[in-house]
Amino acid sequence: MYPSNFAYAAPTSLADVLAQMQAAGDDGKLLAGGQSLIPMLKLRLAEPGTLIDLGRVEGLRGIRVDGDNIVIGAMTPYYQVLDSADVQRRCPLLIQTISQVGDPQVRSRGTIGGSLAHADPSGDLPAAAVALDAKLTSTGPDGSHSYDAASFFQDVMMTALGPNEVLTSVSFPATDSPGTGTAYMKHRHPASGYAVVGVAAIVTVGADGNCQSARIGITGAGSHATRATSTEQALAGKPLDAQSVAAACATAADGVDLMGDAYASSDFRAHLIRVLAQRAILQAAQNARG
Ligand SMILES: Cc1cc2nc3c(=O)[nH]c(=O)nc-3n(C[C@H](O)[C@H](O)[C@H](O)COP(=O)(O)OP(=O)(O)OC[C@H]3O[C@@H](n4cnc5c(N)ncnc54)[C@H](O)[C@@H]3O)c2cc1C
Repeated sequence: MYPSNFAYAAPTSLADVLAQMQAAGDDGKLLAGGQSLIPMLKLRLAEPGTLIDLGRVEGLRGIRVDGDNIVIGAMTPYYQVLDSADVQRRCPLLIQTISQVGDPQVRSRGTIGGSLAHADPSGDLPAAAVALDAKLTSTGPDGSHSYDAASFFQDVMMTALGPNEVLTSVSFPATDSPGTGTAYMKHRHPASGYAVVGVAAIVTVGADGNCQSARIGITGAGSHATRATSTEQALAGKPLDAQSVAAACATAADGVDLMGDAYASSDFRAHLIRVLAQRAILQAAQNARG
């Protein structure tokens, strides 16, 4: 299929983007890496009147360290994040997660902002964003806004962004303090490679060897990425061995609005959450111990 006809705009500044969106009314659509949007256009699941390409907009690309945060411009492609020595050293969960997204072509074109704004329930990056407590910054007609990852993802492909808001950057807290380790575990869909379930874990091991704190993000299983808070609480102060991690993960699927489809029933997805959470937590603990 071919996309339906649309006007194309290639603004070079954020002010121009906002003006183009205003002019397009409800009929404008932002284009980032196009890895999700272009297939949707071809399938006519999206039929915008105007496509507003963010590719030439100044200042939306790049990675910088701001104290204990890694700030990534929305138009930064996945591969640049994978290549960043700062990210590799200070926020390895992003490397562990992004390296499992799609294939080299998808990682070459797809962007951090496009991935998060698209909010595909099976997308990988949202699991890391909620586990890391990332802060997402946008610009819109009424100025800039900041969102916590926990409140950003609201439903299937639905975020807190208003209709004429542009995601501009994402701030990911570093996790390189001593005793902290991270991991991302994913059950891939055999055809698409997307996450049937993906679990991101950040574990801090205390001086006594027990779990000091844990943050766990889940994607793929429900309408949007969420935290496994009851498992996080159950782990606090507990030994990080297979038995107590399994006990804490018994509730990992609680609170997830589980989806089911021809490949994986909601029960199977709940099972995958529990199993992958155990694996991610144990791997993160091992990484924490070096
Ligand atoms: C073959 C294939 C395999 C894939 N496998 C995976 C996978 O395993 N895991 C995974 O997570 N993803 C996968 N993807 C999707 C990929 O991660 C996409 O790159 C990502 O979902 C969208 O990023 P993009 O930059 O391409 O955005 P686009 O496709 O350009 O845009 C996606 C949506 O986000 C909006 N948008 C984009 N940027 C902004 C912004 N700055 N502000 C506001 N709205 C914005 C657009 O308007 C559009 O609605 C795959 C894609 C393909 C084609």
